[in-house]
Amino acid sequence: MSKIKCIEMYHVRIPLDTPFYPSWIPGYPSIDNRFDLVRIITDSGVEGFSAGPAIASERKGLGYLIAPYLIDVDATDMKLIQQRLREVSYLGVRANWMEPAFWDIKGKLENKPVYELLGGKAEPVELYASTGEVKSPEARVEEVRQRYEEGFKSVKIRVHDFEIENDIRQVEAVAKAMGDKMKIGVDANQAWRVTIVSDAPLWDLDRAKKFADACADLGVAWLEEPLPMDAYEDQIALSAYSRVPISGGEIHTNGLPELKMMIERKCYNIFQPDAIMTGGIAQTMEVARLCREHHLIYTPHTWTNGIGFAVNLQMMLAGGFNGVKPLEYPLNPPSWIVEKRDGLLQEKFHHDHGMLHPPKKPGLGFEIDFKELKKYGKRFFRMGRIGLKIYAVRDKGLKTALEIDRNRKKYGVNANKK
Ligand SMILES: [Mg+2]
Repeated sequence: MSKIKCIEMYHVRIPLDTPFYPSWIPGYPSIDNRFDLVRIITDSGVEGFSAGPAIASERKGLGYLIAPYLIDVDATDMKLIQQRLREVSYLGVRANWMEPAFWDIKGKLENKPVYELLGGKAEPVELYASTGEVKSPEARVEEVRQRYEEGFKSVKIRVHDFEIENDIRQVEAVAKAMGDKMKIGVDANQAWRVTIVSDAPLWDLDRAKKFADACADLGVAWLEEPLPMDAYEDQIALSAYSRVPISGGEIHTNGLPELKMMIERKCYNIFQPDAIMTGGIAQTMEVARLCREHHLIYTPHTWTNGIGFAVNLQMMLAGGFNGVKPLEYPLNPPSWIVEKRDGLLQEKFHHDHGMLHPPKKPGLGFEIDFKELKKYGKRFFRMGRIGLKIYAVRDKGLKTALEIDRNRKKYGVNANKK
């Protein structure tokens, strides 16, 4: 047993050299790689980390919600941890993005990478260069050519135009220029359409079918998220109709129950849950298993930040699908580059001619650069055992806080894992 003795949370902003214009949020450039980092400290001295992408200060109160559920719990009891994270989410903010931190601890305690704990083995991973911005056909061809020269054999481009003809024109230009050299995927980013600043195109089944036809004629390798995330009937119809494999499933925050239904109904041909956003490592492993059972492909989404990439890299090696479809490698120079994406990591995940050597370090395979964390991170929460007692008295009053403490001791914080 390795009990949780302290929880820390940091808001991290790693400034980009130049603004990044994500295709998925039109008109709303990012000026930094922004996320919240959780640091779980155990009695044994072993620490685990995970990170969730952030927009503003939306997790400011999360620590106060989560600490009473987790302090003193066995950090390696994955079933109990998952139960607690589920309980937290009922009335508060979702916290499944923290779950990988506990696998990090488990791996470090057993001196094994997480993928080994889960039955995977160390082997090179093929990557595809995942672009992030919408570009003109000419600029896109040039960008894809650069990725090819760097050694990538696959690339994913983004389309987000109101006119289908303009989207097709871009795919056509890239396919004609580079289609004989590279596999080309296309992401429509329709699953979680965002219109916070500017309007964004909204596809229906008819447009998705037309675009899928064009992609098939141009030899596209896969088409990602051409429909809203909960348009299940249309997804089923499209996946059955399309000559190009349809992929999706990166941000289904309900996790396994929803993805299980989608797998059984064959909403997509390729499932790409992100272990940071779709219920954590344990649930995503089950998604991979179900994909195998239903003869569908699993490959993780990775575009959040360097820690999210590291988590999903472990999933690729654990899920048994390495080599089936390349792993997403977010790269959009000059803004979204490896140094910024992996800014907090001591060793960055640099590719080697489109391949990645598997991390051998125990846990999630990275170490935090605390100097960088100090520079770019702001700690907004820290609570240990004494802090929890003080907080309970302030929050509930002495009499009730003592009563809760007695109940906790009587029941045992490591009980209830049904
Ligand atoms: Mg995508």
